[in-house]
Amino acid sequence: MSGDIVIIGGGLAGLTTANRAAELGLNPILLEQGSNSQYFCNSRLAGGILHVAFKDLTAAPEDIAAAIRAQTDEDEATVLGSVMAEDCGRALTWLRGEGAKFIKGGSLEFMRWILAPPRPRGAGLDWKGRGPDVLLRRLTANLSDRGKTLRLKMRARELIIEGDRVTGVMVENGGAMEIIPAAAVVISDGGFQANMKLMRRYVSPAPQKLLQRGAATGHGDGLMMAEAAGAKLVGMDRFYGHLLGRQAFEIEKLWPYPIVDPIAAHSIVVDEAGRRFLDEGMGGVYMANEVAKLDNPLTATVVFDDAVWNGLAADNRYPPCMNPVFVNAGGTVLEAGDLDTLAKKAGISADGLSATVAAYNVAIQSGAAHVPVRTVTKFKPQPIAQSPFRAIPVCAGITYTMGGIAIDRDSRVQAQSGEVIPGLFAAGSASGGIEGGRNAAYLGGLTKAVITGLRAAESAAYEAQAAA
Ligand SMILES: Cc1cc2nc3c(=O)[nH]c(=O)nc-3n(C[C@H](O)[C@H](O)[C@H](O)COP(=O)(O)OP(=O)(O)OC[C@H]3O[C@@H](n4cnc5c(N)ncnc54)[C@H](O)[C@@H]3O)c2cc1C
Repeated sequence: MSGDIVIIGGGLAGLTTANRAAELGLNPILLEQGSNSQYFCNSRLAGGILHVAFKDLTAAPEDIAAAIRAQTDEDEATVLGSVMAEDCGRALTWLRGEGAKFIKGGSLEFMRWILAPPRPRGAGLDWKGRGPDVLLRRLTANLSDRGKTLRLKMRARELIIEGDRVTGVMVENGGAMEIIPAAAVVISDGGFQANMKLMRRYVSPAPQKLLQRGAATGHGDGLMMAEAAGAKLVGMDRFYGHLLGRQAFEIEKLWPYPIVDPIAAHSIVVDEAGRRFLDEGMGGVYMANEVAKLDNPLTATVVFDDAVWNGLAADNRYPPCMNPVFVNAGGTVLEAGDLDTLAKKAGISADGLSATVAAYNVAIQSGAAHVPVRTVTKFKPQPIAQSPFRAIPVCAGITYTMGGIAIDRDSRVQAQSGEVIPGLFAAGSASGGIEGGRNAAYLGGLTKAVITGLRAAESAAYEAQAAA
């Protein structure tokens, strides 16, 4: 077996790369470690909402670029953010050309393009026959119609390097090792969230206490191969994820939905001492990252009052409303007529919690600062005043790592020297430098997979043509 381009991982990024490469006349070989046609990957389990920085993909690129800058913080805006803004329209067009079908999911802008048929807004994992699964099957069929196939049970293990150039991949195939030569290799293996060693090094002191809120198929194989080839790694400490009820470790219905973020973002998150330790106004992805950094990430609790539970938490828009979905799915909402009793039930210091809530309520009413600072964003802080008071013990659910292999605008892997590594590309969640940063900015994993995949195939085709 040999090809013009070998692609590691058959998620949305890999399937996009392979189909685009075939369209451009290359001979792609797409390797997937999964063993059957319904192999798990994050792309297949996704909610299916295509957006960039929560903007409609057909919005003006300058508006999208502004939204990206606002999310990533001006100082941290990367050149790669502009690639997302420039390319999201054509990514949508390309996907529709491949047969992707969409619905409009509601009045919120980021829900304009949802892969059809959409998953119902319920609790638990519901992927079979839903939009992302249908799209992956469509792209696999398209690849086969183009005379190329996805090779299952093939786990890439090592890059073959000659001089300064990547020239192929060593693959584990049913216990045997095989070398597949290629002019270009694209790493699209989905990140390193399921590699506890890498997670401990970069993301959390106790990664086993984070809930895998996805396929858990990203073992960082590509990252380690790229690093061994001299690649630069960027933004390694941030991940895309959400706060989930802590019982999600035992109760399947509690992940990947419902997420606890909307309640937490309007209330407070405290540790065992009853102290706030993060800025709830920054939203769920940021909060999940901060919880993951705790020495024991299983000690965070969201505290709120009756007005939040029967108001905002019962609002049936996206995401699936918590009240009553969370409780119906088996999640526990602790309840008490006073804060001391609630604290005891939740295993939190009662003195600490009352002091935190008192100071927090004063800060909201008077506009005084409350430490840590509570940024007032679209998530308005609500007072904790109306009994009964409630608490949800939470955990950080990790979906994929946002940092990874540094790439340039053409998805070419960058070496630590800043030069590109000839013959090596990265796409999708394996690539870093687009999301993350101080704000744990999440720009949209599906769109990132398509855009970086298209660019990887196109630059490989350009290089192949130049070399011919
Ligand atoms: C529950 C859930 C909801 C989500 N909702 C959304 C959403 O609504 N909108 C959105 O934009 N994003 C969403 N995402 C995120 C999105 O799914 C991902 O960002 C995106 O699918 C990543 O695509 P990928 O191809 O990079 O990775 P993946 O889809 O994870 O694919 C990587 C593939 O590589 C394979 N692989 C790994 N290692 C090797 C190896 N060594 N050799 C060969 N194969 C290998 C894996 O088996 C896997 O099939 C969601 C994710 C989840 C889990």
